[in-house]
Amino acid sequence: METALVFSPHADDATIFCGGTLVRLAEEGWRVVLVRVTDDRFDSLGLSVEETLERNRLEWQEAAGILGVAEVVDLGFPTDCLADLPLGRLRERAVWLLRRYRPHTVLSFDLADRFEDNQDHVRVAQAVAEACWVACFDKHHPEHFAEGLEPFAPAERWYFSRSGPEPNHVVDITDHLDQKVRAVCAHRTMMRHVVNQYRLQFRAAGREVPALDAAVSGEGLPVLLERYVAGVAGAVARGAGLPEGRFAEAFRREDTSEIAALL
Ligand SMILES: [Zn+2]
Repeated sequence: METALVFSPHADDATIFCGGTLVRLAEEGWRVVLVRVTDDRFDSLGLSVEETLERNRLEWQEAAGILGVAEVVDLGFPTDCLADLPLGRLRERAVWLLRRYRPHTVLSFDLADRFEDNQDHVRVAQAVAEACWVACFDKHHPEHFAEGLEPFAPAERWYFSRSGPEPNHVVDITDHLDQKVRAVCAHRTMMRHVVNQYRLQFRAAGREVPALDAAVSGEGLPVLLERYVAGVAGAVARGAGLPEGRFAEAFRREDTSEIAALL
């Protein structure tokens, strides 16, 4: 059985960027291990930090269940603060996870997205990309070897992003779109907060949008999220030249093919 190790800085990132792909991999028999790097303590609207921590943790686990994830790992770093930590601390955890789970494929945010403004996303992208080669070394983190772990390199890395380089790997998720939508909707607390950010932005532009008001109140949220998820996945599919009516997710894949061609 192959393993996919997925790094999600926040609870909702993996669901949004590669949720359909995770459902598909799980159905094909892969073991999907989902790592939440931060604790999402600030990501809610009108709730205390304690309630936010609890709701986001439970909703993340609910979404992971919908996506067919076999195992979840919570690293628990404080949210929106990864840029304040030494990168080596995060990288050590990524190296440990690579050596512990020995995945065929790693999924993570793309280091090459120059327009990413969320520093948690940037730091995880940096730490994971570097960990993928540091994990091979027999002198980095010898304390891992004392635990019985060994040097390791994943076969493939699939990087997702908001506005990174042109993707070279597209996964058709048409048959898994329903599960992706349900999983995104499971992140109710975070999604209400995201929608409220857009509502504030529209308000600053002098516009009140009833659909956003309804979503923030809760009852209009699933309708809006379904439209958003299907809209994005449909556009990705069209961009990849798939037939009308298909839905997809896209990645920048790095694998062994370039080196293999030289052998
Ligand atoms: Zn995020």
